[in-house]
Amino acid sequence: MLKTKSFYIIAFMLKFVDAKSILTETKLPGLDYSLNPFRGCTIGCPYCYSPDVLRETREWGKFLDVKENAPQLLEKELRTKKRGLIGIGTVTDGYVQAERELKMTRRCLEKILEAGWPVSIQTKSSLVVRDLDLLKRFKEKGLEVEVGFTITTLDPRVSAVLEPFASPPLERIAAMKEIHDAGIRVWCFVGPIYPGFDSQCEELVRRIAGAGCDRVLSHRFALHRTAWARVKKALEEKMPEQVTEWEHTLFTEEGKKFFDTAYKQLADACGRYHIKHEFAFGKP
Ligand code: SF4
Repeated sequence: MLKTKSFYIIAFMLKFVDAKSILTETKLPGLDYSLNPFRGCTIGCPYCYSPDVLRETREWGKFLDVKENAPQLLEKELRTKKRGLIGIGTVTDGYVQAERELKMTRRCLEKILEAGWPVSIQTKSSLVVRDLDLLKRFKEKGLEVEVGFTITTLDPRVSAVLEPFASPPLERIAAMKEIHDAGIRVWCFVGPIYPGFDSQCEELVRRIAGAGCDRVLSHRFALHRTAWARVKKALEEKMPEQVTEWEHTLFTEEGKKFFDTAYKQLADACGRYHIKHEFAFGKP
């Protein structure tokens, strides 16, 4: 079992709420439903699109609404809805820090397993390893089960800017290896591709290949201005010398050429390690 090395000191507002429904039909590629036992995500990535999707006005990363009735609702909906692949981690991460005690995602996984539906998890947390016993039972029952890890960088400074309360990147890769070694399919979302990614690309791909990843989805930074304001603030606090370069790369025609080069570099590296590379949202 992976020994978790990360420690979190994070203050946020926790609230228990009742949801009206829990399985949401989705058009996200490859998924039929999304399942989010929480509203809000205390991993707190400043580029996250979820606050805009949810029209959330509270400060993202500083609150967590726990859908207390999620397992009971899910049990009912699994009986009445058409069977399909459920994605966990589409709008909020199912393995936020509070999940360690609350076990909301785990209880939902138990319901999905009982009902015999397939599941796909995406996370930035090594906590998912805790549920490896359940994931193995999906596999034993012949149900589709996979775990995707978002790995953006190996650089701890960039990680501190872009994903402040995620498990450290190497800890995530160790979790990925543990899950792969248990016979569960793993994949990676490599993104958002950020200015400076080129210095990390080869080593990142080498490491995820070593952890059993055979499929990479990627996407470049695509921010609207509200998200850029949050990223810029985080950069100013933690990597102030990078603000000008990031702004140039993200928002000027000349700077954007960087992404073509970075995609090619990533695709070539994936090729060398026999990893299938795809664009997460179609070719940009
Ligand atoms: S982990 Fe995912 S959902 Fe959570 S803040 Fe980061 S990008 Fe958003």
